Amino acid sequence: MNSMQPFTMKKIVILTSGGDSPGMNAAVRAAVRTALTNGIEVYASCSGYQGLVAEELIPLDTVAMANCIQLGGTILKTDRCLDFFEPRIRERCRDFLKEQEIDGLVVIGGDGSFRGAALLQTAGGPPVVGIPATIDNDIEGTEYTVGFDTARNTVLDAIDKIRDTASSHNRNFMVEVMGRRSGFLALDVGIAGGAEYILIPEAPMTADELAARILDPSRKKLSSIMVVAEGEHPGHTLELAKQLREKTGVIYRVCILGHTQRGGSPSALDRKIASLMGAKAIQMLIAGEHNKMVAVINDRLVPMGFPNPDHAARKVTDRTLLEINEMICK
Ligand code: ADP
Repeated sequence: MNSMQPFTMKKIVILTSGGDSPGMNAAVRAAVRTALTNGIEVYASCSGYQGLVAEELIPLDTVAMANCIQLGGTILKTDRCLDFFEPRIRERCRDFLKEQEIDGLVVIGGDGSFRGAALLQTAGGPPVVGIPATIDNDIEGTEYTVGFDTARNTVLDAIDKIRDTASSHNRNFMVEVMGRRSGFLALDVGIAGGAEYILIPEAPMTADELAARILDPSRKKLSSIMVVAEGEHPGHTLELAKQLREKTGVIYRVCILGHTQRGGSPSALDRKIASLMGAKAIQMLIAGEHNKMVAVINDRLVPMGFPNPDHAARKVTDRTLLEINEMICK
């Protein structure tokens, strides 16, 4: 089937896969209702690709989408599905979807989930459209992913609370935030939370470099907050705090925010973008624009090819925010 060739779509499947992020429900709701409005039946594969592997599809109607826009997590459940890595299993899923006469698939998730979806389509599965959703905002090809803004606000709320106790007791804190591959979340919350230092994988600083800055005689801070992206080693901030204490004598208390960052009611921005992306995903399927994701480029929603699996995740390349923080954190 030709990309860009509109055809009559009758039955589609929707699923959420990989790590959850706030706003997934708004995307599901918008996609389901846009599909129904266009005369398309919608089925859920629950728990990501697990539903396809188990050959279980749940019909969705407009009522099933009531009162979910404000909920965090995903009402369709999500999971990682190791079986789906196997071509033989994907072929079984393809055959099952053919038997069920499914002619479209909407996948809400990260680049791993999109990789699985693209492989399914290449193996003869239904046309696929992806909606990028992760609190890390690190998917190549889009400037925004569903959940990022809510996570920013969740972390900021935590930093504000830590700041109260930090300034009352003249204490120093390190706040470790999510972001294994990229520092978008740490960078934004570091600036917005008034952090003295922001450590991200794209601009690493050694313990010695950091210690030299802390010991700089011009430094006057009695209390401070450092934001640290977890990078490849979640929890590594504890070790960094230990090293800084040894090198400077300054005690940093560590707060690892962990999975609290993935939960919570989605922000206005996430609900809005997720809703628009959900509607756009169906419009793309109807228009024959598949094997693509809905991307945000310059504040507009556009169809974009899935990220190249051989490329790294999207990274912070512009150092401007770090440079500005250097000036305003003193
Ligand atoms: P995310 O979508 O958040 O990046 P993962 O990378 O964990 O999360 O991927 C979620 C699921 O997508 C996996 O558990 C698997 O079912 C499917 N998937 C990921 N990568 C592949 C792949 N290379 N081939 C087939 N399926 C994949």
